Amino acid sequence: MKDYIFIKTDDAAISNIDKFKRLVRRTFKLELFKGLWIVLKEMISGKSHTLLYPLEKMQLSPRYRAVHKLMRFIESENERCIGCGLCEKICVSNCIAMETKLDENGRKRVVNYSINYGRCVYCGLCADVCPEIAIVHGGEYENASEQRAYFGFKEDLLTPKDKLCEQVEFPGYGSLREDADKFVKATPNAYINIDEISNEPEKKSEISKENKDV
Ligand code: SF4
Ligand code: SF4
Repeated sequence: MKDYIFIKTDDAAISNIDKFKRLVRRTFKLELFKGLWIVLKEMISGKSHTLLYPLEKMQLSPRYRAVHKLMRFIESENERCIGCGLCEKICVSNCIAMETKLDENGRKRVVNYSINYGRCVYCGLCADVCPEIAIVHGGEYENASEQRAYFGFKEDLLTPKDKLCEQVEFPGYGSLREDADKFVKATPNAYINIDEISNEPEKKSEISKENKDV
């Protein structure tokens, strides 16, 4: 909290006259020169408050919602996406397009999957709704090009098989939480135990507490 600067709004100027009076008041209180002096001091001190992008890059939050990735299973190398279409339906910008077909075993395969990044608002709903955690927001945010049509196709999004060892379970939006195993495995058993021991109120409350902790 100590880094925030609170701005007083109760004396906000509304009419043009008020704004003019405020300008005169602020100028003659030398606030303008105070500001200029701070800028000059910072310039002379040589301290930089900006990064030398692209040589230097800011550390992103793990939950930063950058360009999407389609994930594969590490063991089998299969695509995680099952073509359920939930991401396409929930997309607020209507920018996901997918095409599926049934393979020789009657399983649905995703043939084409694309995201129009010109329309995407990076809301994260697609990653949130995906039941397979197949689509996540990765940390890559540099997607400049001469043509926006160059982006967002399945081959751009999906981890290539030869780079599978580099696929990171990105700890950001839409990805598994670190203690997912514990969470998923503990919950169903805990519910069963609660039903079985419904006549033992003390034990029941203990297990409920454990569930809450999980
Ligand atoms: S982040 Fe939001 S807008 Fe972008 S593709 Fe996903 S659901 Fe659509
Ligand atoms: S919600 Fe997930 S599994 Fe379903 S189509 Fe979208 S990416 Fe694939």
